[in-house]
Amino acid sequence: MRKPLIAGNWKMFKSLDQVGTFADDFISRVLDIENTDILLCPPYVYVQSLAQACEGTQVMVGAQNVFWEDEGAYTGEISALMLKSIGAEYSIIGHSERRQFFHETDETVNKRLFASIKADLVPIVCVGETLNDRESGKTFDIIGSQIRQGLEGLGSDMADTLVIAYEPVWAIGTGKTATPQMAQEVHAYIRTVITGLFGKEIAQNMRILYGGSVKGDNIDSLMAQDDIDGALVGGASLDAASFERILRFKG
Ligand code: PEP
Repeated sequence: MRKPLIAGNWKMFKSLDQVGTFADDFISRVLDIENTDILLCPPYVYVQSLAQACEGTQVMVGAQNVFWEDEGAYTGEISALMLKSIGAEYSIIGHSERRQFFHETDETVNKRLFASIKADLVPIVCVGETLNDRESGKTFDIIGSQIRQGLEGLGSDMADTLVIAYEPVWAIGTGKTATPQMAQEVHAYIRTVITGLFGKEIAQNMRILYGGSVKGDNIDSLMAQDDIDGALVGGASLDAASFERILRFKG
């Protein structure tokens, strides 16, 4: 019912040469994969060249962030319209590294969300609790509030392409993964919150990705969970063979 989506977040890695080498190798490895949507999110500066390399294939390219104004005196920022014009199809919004290091808030997530939808970029809105939140029993409160505030004002008519990524902050880049049961529990909760906001049909169709140290050796058990519809993969998406293994999950 929900087509899985597996997205690679390259963070701030790779040179232009390395992007070209990756694309040649990776595309030939995954050309036969049809039952999963494949997305690569490189640094902004490589979006155009990677999108060109992927043209004519099923591999899609997205951005790791997006600014909310279309244009203007905002030195250093990149608009959703600009990203769309160079071949981006998705935008990651509110990644925990942006929340942690660049003061991203649910309010700015909300602005980036509307800008993405307006430019026809599919938004991947990231939510997740810190270790402290989890240990003090606040996981559901935090996730619920990030979703309600991040999606504030969004109508059901605009929510149908939205993707949510659940990324427990304590599991990103740490080698610690939530157990499949822990992830499933939060994904099911997210679907309940989405049902409350937009109704059952949209909630049942919405893809909810898991992110946090996803690798070849844990993807199968994660994807076997009812409410896990894909993954947002950081480190393991930088290597073509290891990302291919994740894309060929069994579950
Ligand atoms: C991420 O960048 O969203 C991520 C989950 O990173 P990693 O897979 O390296 O934990």
